[in-house]
Amino acid sequence: MYKAVRGTQDILPQDAPYWRHLETTIHELCARYGYHRLEPPLFEETSLFVRGVGEATDIVEKEMYSFTDRGGRELTLRPEFTAGVMRGYIEHNMHTWPRPVKLYSVGPAFRYEAPQAGRYRQFHQVNVEAIGEQDPAVDLEIMSVAWDLYEALGSKGLSFQLNSTGCPACRPVYIKHLVAYYEQHRDEICKECKRRLQRNPLRVLDCKVETCQPIIEGAPRMREHLCGECAKHFETLLGYLDLLGRSYTLNHRLVRGLDYYTKTVFEVWAEEGLGAQNAVCGGGRYDGLIEELGGPPTPGVGFAAGLERIILAMKAQGTAVPELVAPQLLVAHRGTEAKTRAVTLTSELRTAGIGALLAFGQRSLRSQMKQANRANVRFTLILGEDELAAGEVTVRDMAAGEQQRVSLAEIEDWLKRRL
Ligand code: ATP
Ligand code: MG
Repeated sequence: MYKAVRGTQDILPQDAPYWRHLETTIHELCARYGYHRLEPPLFEETSLFVRGVGEATDIVEKEMYSFTDRGGRELTLRPEFTAGVMRGYIEHNMHTWPRPVKLYSVGPAFRYEAPQAGRYRQFHQVNVEAIGEQDPAVDLEIMSVAWDLYEALGSKGLSFQLNSTGCPACRPVYIKHLVAYYEQHRDEICKECKRRLQRNPLRVLDCKVETCQPIIEGAPRMREHLCGECAKHFETLLGYLDLLGRSYTLNHRLVRGLDYYTKTVFEVWAEEGLGAQNAVCGGGRYDGLIEELGGPPTPGVGFAAGLERIILAMKAQGTAVPELVAPQLLVAHRGTEAKTRAVTLTSELRTAGIGALLAFGQRSLRSQMKQANRANVRFTLILGEDELAAGEVTVRDMAAGEQQRVSLAEIEDWLKRRL
């Protein structure tokens, strides 16, 4: 027996209302903020992700689904969206568009990780980017899109974690201080942190190992080493957030695993329902990325949020979602001739924009009524010899248990007035 591959899952019909509601909310919200949809392909050249995501990241070191295609190309299933979106920005000369260029995407991403609740090998993200503008008001806008998304979904108990990781001018100086401090504690830190100090020193700050925690607490803080420009950018952003009354937690340990992030970095954490996988959203500024990928020097800021984790949180919080639209009538029939007319009537109704089900086979009327009850329709239309001879159809109102004859010529209008 085949099973879905480890870390992947079917999205079953019972979850469809959550997905539909989430997707509708995303599209409406992005439209309101003036973001346009760009969907990059599911796979790109491997080197795009190696450069764009960063060689010393978990994603590139151990999480990519990479393969060689039949033409010998080195390809990778996208582990995130930003690199592909930036490749698209460069390829389509979007630097000539009015700035900032505001783009969003929704779809699957792939990472080879240890599967557990809220962590999968195929998962979905919404990704939102504003490209070409330095203004901290854009950082605010990006955070606000995330904020409003959770608000529109009725999420409770969320916290916005915020930090600045500086820029190529001030970060190296900070990293020197950080490494010097860690050198003094070499004997106390975990093996992985020793490796991080070599490969990607900032990452020691998000180590989860118990014995490293007091070391992290005592570590020098980026905020105290920001250059003038980065400090001003951060202060302005905090000022805007305060003005809007949006609460946030300054978190000096927050660093993105991605090399191209500059200045603002943020995450949204859910308090309930997600257990260990509590980050529902991560984002920040990446002023160095487009140049790194061969485009003109261009600032950018964006975020990505995991849809499965949002849905897990919605379920844990009992968030109500709208029911999907379902057909409200079933066409039943008695006899071969009536069945033929039922087939054409169902088709005519659908063409007229009325959702309709046809009773398949030639079962008893009783069994067709059962089917109508199970499908929870409002009306059953019954066609038999009598009805056909009179050019009519019997309409049964399922809730009221009442029946009436309606002329076949008028049935569309009759139904449209009622549905
Ligand atoms: P984590 O720390 O949980 O591994 P991350 O920092 O790798 O997250 P990002 O690269 O920032 O995650 O991706 C943005 C969002 O995508 C995360 O906040 C999370 O909601 C979601 N996400 C990331 N990896 C997975 C996964 N394997 N399965 C489900 N959702 C994921
Ligand atoms: Mg991860």
